[in-house]
Amino acid sequence: MASKQLDELRSLLSDPEIIERDSPRYSEQATPWSLWADQRPPLVVQPTSLGSMFKVVKFLYDSDLDFAIRNTGTGSVSAKNVILSTHGFKDFSFDKESKTVTLGSGYDWGAVDKLMEEHAPGYQVVGARCSWVGVSGSSLVGGLSWLSHEYGMISDPQNLLEMQIVLRDGRVLWASEEPDLMWALRGGGGNFGVVTALKLRARPYPTIVFAGIVLFPYSSLEEMSKVVSKMAARTADPRLAMHVVNRGAAFGEAPQGAKPGVAVMMWDAHGEAHARSDDGFGWVFKVSDCHELQAGEMSVREVNALAESFRHWQGRNQFWLCAPLLAEIDDETLVRAWKWWEDAINLFEGFQVGSTVLLEFMQEGAMTSSGGRDKTAWPHYQRRHVMQLGLGCRPEGAPDNIREVAMKQFQKAGPQIAGADKDTKEFHAGFLHEFNDLRDIYGENFDKLKKLKKRYDPNNKFNKGVNLADEKVTAEMTA
Ligand SMILES: Cc1cc2nc3c(=O)[nH]c(=O)nc-3n(C[C@H](O)[C@H](O)[C@H](O)COP(=O)(O)OP(=O)(O)OC[C@H]3O[C@@H](n4cnc5c(N)ncnc54)[C@H](O)[C@@H]3O)c2cc1C
Repeated sequence: MASKQLDELRSLLSDPEIIERDSPRYSEQATPWSLWADQRPPLVVQPTSLGSMFKVVKFLYDSDLDFAIRNTGTGSVSAKNVILSTHGFKDFSFDKESKTVTLGSGYDWGAVDKLMEEHAPGYQVVGARCSWVGVSGSSLVGGLSWLSHEYGMISDPQNLLEMQIVLRDGRVLWASEEPDLMWALRGGGGNFGVVTALKLRARPYPTIVFAGIVLFPYSSLEEMSKVVSKMAARTADPRLAMHVVNRGAAFGEAPQGAKPGVAVMMWDAHGEAHARSDDGFGWVFKVSDCHELQAGEMSVREVNALAESFRHWQGRNQFWLCAPLLAEIDDETLVRAWKWWEDAINLFEGFQVGSTVLLEFMQEGAMTSSGGRDKTAWPHYQRRHVMQLGLGCRPEGAPDNIREVAMKQFQKAGPQIAGADKDTKEFHAGFLHEFNDLRDIYGENFDKLKKLKKRYDPNNKFNKGVNLADEKVTAEMTA
């Protein structure tokens, strides 16, 4: 049955739009970030025009085939029968007069950074901080940028102006023609159709910023925890941003036991002199045993490309990400986060090779600038810091219940890191798992979102990741 339907699907497309398992292009187009999710479907289809995309979407929707929409695979999507790749959609244009960028949904943000440098010097879009992350997947789940503190999330109405989408019946439209649909696409997890293009606001922004990575030994953790908490209380400058992450796998270094050191990644759009002053990150450089790995002025593209060294993680590890939201950072937050990590290593030593704790220090505007809880499908409306937790290991030697171990450890993280009485019980919508209750994630927007899901996907065929119809997150979505 499936093989007959696969043949019918092939017959709708030209040869370059078909990628079989034995093709040299297959691995790049099918491997998910987390090996755990890999289902190695027999076929990847990559339509290169709206004409073939609408035929494919309609065919898949009316078939019994299990399919997944995929851009980069960073969200660890896979399927039993077919992957529908968006890589055939790569057009880019910048309109200086309206300050808008229109781009195909097949790009990753690294490619967009390059195109912005070339075609829109002096402007930036609010896009992800890691060059390999796909433009539409990240927009559909919220999406965070170095520019978010100033302008909000990628999916907010002031940043993501429009999405072109192919619906289940092959209809192609710009979503704001049906405003409820556009609303649902803003952080609602996708699964309403296949996005083929995005229109984004371009902001006049410095091309060159200061970025730095500085390293500290484990012995500096307590001191660092205190100064980061002071920074969070003191700073309201939206042109400053910071990540604090454990050393070891997170920084491409050898495992450092259960007591890893600390790395701080800084962003200061005012430039180097400001970054090194007390108005910027002067305090970071004063913490004991500071070692500058890399610090200086560079282009926004180069900053995002610093994450390139993690790209090789794709398809190497079993990996899961979860991101509880913290209402505040106190003097002990980092110490408790490192303890959570240490507990994970004690549960399974193999987690050392791919696990991270990463605090995304957020300014007020990152989550408040959409203007209210009902402005986007995922309600984000007050200051929150993102505690991004990754648990990863090589598949060899991992116990059969490794996923269960990881999920249990994630569920402990909120109360352990925030403190039991301060746990918000909130999670970033881009990193959800089966234990997340979608009614909690989407709050008062949930019923509207579910109704829209029924209207645009009555048979629940777009069902990977956030599965609104069944009110659950499917196990395949791991990051
Ligand atoms: C190591 C790591 C770092 C990350 N860093 C960032 C970051 O800096 N900022 C940030 O915002 N996020 C970040 N993310 C999270 C990222 O935004 C999500 O994983 C997102 O789902 C990736 O989208 P993708 O298109 O690249 O992935 P994919 O796996 O290709 O897709 C993920 C899901 O998005 C949907 N989707 C993708 N494209 C389309 C489309 N064209 N139409 C309809 N649905 C579509 C599909 O449902 C698919 O299941 C990171 C994730 C990881 C693992």
